[in-house]
Amino acid sequence: MHAEVISIGDELTSGQRVDTNSAWLSQRLGELGIAVRFHTTVSDDLAGNIAVFRAAIERADVVVATGGLGPTADDLTREAVAAALGCELVLDPASLAHIESLFARRNRPMPERNRVQAMFPAASRPIPNPNGTAPGIAAEVARASRPPCYLFCLPGVPAEMFEMWRETVAPALSAMSGSARVIRHHTIKCYGVGESQLESMLPDLIRRGREPSVGITVHGATISLRITATGDSAAACETAIADTASIIRQALGDLVFGEGDDELQDVVLRQLAATGRTLSTSEVGTAGRLAFWLAEAARRSAGGASFLGGLVLPQTDAKSPAESPQQQVARMAIDCRTRFAADFGLAIGPVPLAIPDAPLAEFHIALATAGGVSIKSDTTIGHPAILHDRAAKQALDMLRHALLYETSR
Ligand code: ATP
Repeated sequence: MHAEVISIGDELTSGQRVDTNSAWLSQRLGELGIAVRFHTTVSDDLAGNIAVFRAAIERADVVVATGGLGPTADDLTREAVAAALGCELVLDPASLAHIESLFARRNRPMPERNRVQAMFPAASRPIPNPNGTAPGIAAEVARASRPPCYLFCLPGVPAEMFEMWRETVAPALSAMSGSARVIRHHTIKCYGVGESQLESMLPDLIRRGREPSVGITVHGATISLRITATGDSAAACETAIADTASIIRQALGDLVFGEGDDELQDVVLRQLAATGRTLSTSEVGTAGRLAFWLAEAARRSAGGASFLGGLVLPQTDAKSPAESPQQQVARMAIDCRTRFAADFGLAIGPVPLAIPDAPLAEFHIALATAGGVSIKSDTTIGHPAILHDRAAKQALDMLRHALLYETSR
């Protein structure tokens, strides 16, 4: 079984609201072993809605739509579904009683227009909505020489939609798919090479049709390999994922820094905490990215006490005239290590102001330890918007490697 998720509303197609319902529903459908093939977003337009429902019923076994169930003239889902199914709208007395009781509880008369929310396509059933006036619509739509399509329409309001999914739709889909297939995901995070180079290091894992499948995405030079396994049970999926993860780790070695939601700063804090050591930072031209990331990670991590603090310096103050940029960054690393009495001092600077089309400029990273200072240089290549992040990641990765390969303490 595969699915289509439909989101309805002008505020979605005009970009005024981000469609979070589709993302949420796709994850829930995936957990039930139902892969989502299409996301469709349509404005509050009757002809458009009818066309979208017809196409979805034709090409998907399960269709879940949200939005357009309210009482106002621009709420067209009921009408569109009735037209797509080729049937009339009929009144459901139980739904009408529920809507009237909601108004009675608030001591208000029910406006006549809310009556429309108790109208359903004749070939459908209402889905109860305990917290709102808009019941949902469920229908089993017969298709020529194929199994039926299961259609569910839910309100757009996320909290109402979540509850109706949990109470009614998810149990119905689980029962239907019987021997439901299970889907599990796992992400392996890498840093240090480009996407194509990393892909060339993997033994033919990212090919279509592989089971488990491996997908590759890049965000600000961090590469995520997402393993997706489908199986009869969670345990079968976990085993398949573990095998593929181990092939990846073997092929990529120390380019792999973490799993799941790990970022470089989480890993570095764990490495430090594991050996009871501490870190301080100093940076010029990164808008404090390094200190910000480490402080955020420290808040959510058991190893948080390892980060003692960071200095964020303006370009003008940081350099003394006699120093080369490398000497400046080395001094910053030593100074912050001393100032915070930390085991490691990590410094970046000066990351030049990023002006599009400006010539490439160098920046430097220095790591001060009890044994001395090591320095790495890099250039400001890449889009200006990601320079701060790149510089901070380079610095964290330098420390990660140092901690990984240190032989003496
Ligand atoms: P009701 O009219 O009873 O509130 P409805 O089914 O008519 O419910 P809409 O009017 O389409 O739903 O949307 C109600 C609200 O729900 C929107 O203003 C928006 O805040 C939110 N919403 C709708 N669709 C989405 C979506 N796809 N993702 C996130 N939020 C949504």
